[in-house]
Amino acid sequence: MKLTEKIHLLPLDFEIKFNPNMKINRFVNSLIIFGEKITLIDTGVKGCATKISDYIKENSRDITEVETVILSHSHPDHIGSASEIKRITGCRVLAHEGEKGWIEDIKAQVKERPVPGFFDLLDEPVKIDRFLEHGQEVKADKNITLKIIHSPGHSSGSINILFEEDRILFTADSIPVKKDIPNYDNFNDLVRSLNSIRTNRDYTILLTSWTPPITDPEKIEKFLNEGEIYMRALDDAVKGIYTGDEAVPLEFCRKVILKLGLPEFYINPVVDRAFRGHKI
Ligand SMILES: [Zn+2]
Repeated sequence: MKLTEKIHLLPLDFEIKFNPNMKINRFVNSLIIFGEKITLIDTGVKGCATKISDYIKENSRDITEVETVILSHSHPDHIGSASEIKRITGCRVLAHEGEKGWIEDIKAQVKERPVPGFFDLLDEPVKIDRFLEHGQEVKADKNITLKIIHSPGHSSGSINILFEEDRILFTADSIPVKKDIPNYDNFNDLVRSLNSIRTNRDYTILLTSWTPPITDPEKIEKFLNEGEIYMRALDDAVKGIYTGDEAVPLEFCRKVILKLGLPEFYINPVVDRAFRGHKI
């Protein structure tokens, strides 16, 4: 899908297997910038390099023209094909330093954040060639300047990317989606990042990793408000239930999920980790 002549959105499908009986289908957005060279933002799960390559071919270009891959953060659905694409193209990989540990050491990532079916989504680490800093500008093409906005909370080195000339803000996973799987490292940082997205006046198109582009200002406002209300409800439930030690693993997580009437497959170590990221 074309956002502009040169900036394309490519949703990449994948599935997460929570247990043998429970899997969910999701997609993650990647962005392809067709400049003199090609810049790619996020790469989908492992195996997505072929879909990306096919899409680039449909646009009469070739994946070997990818010069830069920017990773919004370290989670498997964003970096799963980065290693393969780097191998094919020799591209440079850019990400925030806060994500170095989990991008370059995926065993550490799965140990600390055990996403169900992790190695089905990501099986190769990739080396970051250059760190991105808050406020930095990356020139993707003559009139395509990408401004890096550090947006911690979902993960410590998550970034948002502002397309300055086209007024598109790509927020990756920074905005929690109502009723979706609670999935963040630090609640207070997440709310702060959400507020800076709300007060940012430099964009007219809001693009996340999980939604089609949102252009109606009222819908943008509603989306941000719903995310924050959901977070506040989670915060209240977490703080009302947490008592310190738990006799049974995931007991605390289970109580919060059941209290809020969320699906039972949300009772898992990733969500438990998010709940422990509230100041409790
Ligand atoms: Zn994520």
